[in-house]
Amino acid sequence: MQQSVFEHMQQMGHEQIVFCHDPNSGLNAIIGIHNTTLGPALGGTRLWNYNTHEEAIIDALRLSRGMTYKAAISGLNLGGGKAVIIGDASKIKSEALWRRYGKFVNSLNGKYITAEDVNTSAKDMEYISMETDFVTGVPEYMGGSGDPSPFTAYGVFTGMKAAAKKAWGTDSLSGKKVLVQGVGHVGQYLVGHLVEEGAKVYITDISENKIKQTTEKFHSIEVVDGNKIWDMDIDIYAPCALGATVNTASIGKMKCPVIAGAANNQLEDENIHGPMLIEKGIIYVPDFLINAGGLINVGAELDGYNRERVTGNVEKIYDRTLEILELSGNEKIHTQAAAMKIAEKRLKDIANVKARL
Ligand code: NAD
Repeated sequence: MQQSVFEHMQQMGHEQIVFCHDPNSGLNAIIGIHNTTLGPALGGTRLWNYNTHEEAIIDALRLSRGMTYKAAISGLNLGGGKAVIIGDASKIKSEALWRRYGKFVNSLNGKYITAEDVNTSAKDMEYISMETDFVTGVPEYMGGSGDPSPFTAYGVFTGMKAAAKKAWGTDSLSGKKVLVQGVGHVGQYLVGHLVEEGAKVYITDISENKIKQTTEKFHSIEVVDGNKIWDMDIDIYAPCALGATVNTASIGKMKCPVIAGAANNQLEDENIHGPMLIEKGIIYVPDFLINAGGLINVGAELDGYNRERVTGNVEKIYDRTLEILELSGNEKIHTQAAAMKIAEKRLKDIANVKARL
């Protein structure tokens, strides 16, 4: 690692990083708590086979920071946190691992509240909930709201429609060619909305199984080779796999006028790639704004869950997207910077409110 953990924390503004280790269950986890100005840090736990520990630390830092912005821009009274567990999801999952992890989460006394993320499920949350109350997204039969992915997908669909309105003057996606990269939890629900709307949907995934599941459900969609996506003439690119797919190489080849997808940290480097997209005339809906549906859903568990209210709050992503695209145009800043500006203003304003009696 070129910089120390503390240097990274200072640079990105983190409050706390917690390293958790348990040799019996094979647990190696890192909990990143970025900012608790607005409330407890809520964010999912990702299970991933990182190549190095440094890679895992950076992921926890970047993801938890993204959660601060996501909660702030979505008007939620939640802080930013996220955790990563290092390991192969097909090998290390066990009741003991989740429960030991639950104990670590519990030791933070509610400063960090966990939820699902990549490679973790509502069932895993159920094990965590045996050791702590600071977990959301537990199965519906246990009184939780279950899988947040349908809400994330609905939010992405909503934000995509707002971007379409900006790009083409109408928010109808009927006939629009949309490429969904990654048809996992979120991607499959998103495909459902797009098909229903009459879009021409293309999908790509590294998992044959996910491709099979999706094509069996939706007969009109087309599967494309992941290595050839930039040769395609598409209207909307929806990254729904992992981050950093919007980078110097991909932007150079992109022909789509809109990027709107669920993945976190889509821009490899926001300072370089945000402006590059503006230069190229590509409308990018910031990830932490468009993929907030899941957070809005799990966050609602903390103050009396109501599905209609959650749906209404997720739909607000439409207006927020338009507001940010407008600000970006007016102030000649890239869309990620515009979204960060609004989020940072709320953080500052509420910190000031909280500092007074
Ligand atoms: P998931 O693991 O269920 O699905 C990801 C899919 O992407 C899998 O099918 C995987 O095979 C595929 N994939 C991985 N690498 C790929 C590649 N190089 N090319 C094509 N496909 C690839 O995850 P998910 O819950 O659907 O989340 C998708 C993304 O959205 C993640 O970045 C996640 O952090 C983000 N996100 C999810 C939620 C949620 O509610 N689940 C909320 C906010 C953000």
